[in-house]
Amino acid sequence: MENCIFCKIAAKQIPSKAIYEDDDLIAFHDINPAAPIHFLIVPKQHIPTLADCTEAHAALLGKMALLAPRLAQEQGCGYQPGEQGGEATGGYKTIFNVGPDGGQEVYHLHMHVIGGPRPWRGQR
Ligand code: AMP
Ligand code: ZN
Repeated sequence: MENCIFCKIAAKQIPSKAIYEDDDLIAFHDINPAAPIHFLIVPKQHIPTLADCTEAHAALLGKMALLAPRLAQEQGCGYQPGEQGGEATGGYKTIFNVGPDGGQEVYHLHMHVIGGPRPWRGQR
């Protein structure tokens, strides 16, 4: 897809701070982080929004969702349930912004993973 910034990142035409890559997905740090840890999980295939996904994308979306906890753990914001009366720690938000009212700026499907110790900028 011409003039799509995430297609260009996937094709290595512009640089990113990459943290993961496989045949279907890439993940890289957000250039304007909203929290101490903020990265994006992005399919290599150009799909504009979550609303453009169909049953044909179910496996891809599942792969994105399952990658989030794994990369969050690696990046230092994994969720640890409290054990034996202890407090739970860590955790993160997973967000798909969709369309103008959803605040979507880049029209190439991506999942935000946002975590780290609070407070966060904007508290989003
Ligand atoms: P959204 O509002 O959901 O479309 O989010 C797009 C996100 O992409 C924003 O959080 C931007 O900071 C981030 N972003 C835009 N350009 C780049 C880039 N070149 N590298 C990394 N993140 C980017
Ligand atoms: Zn694209």
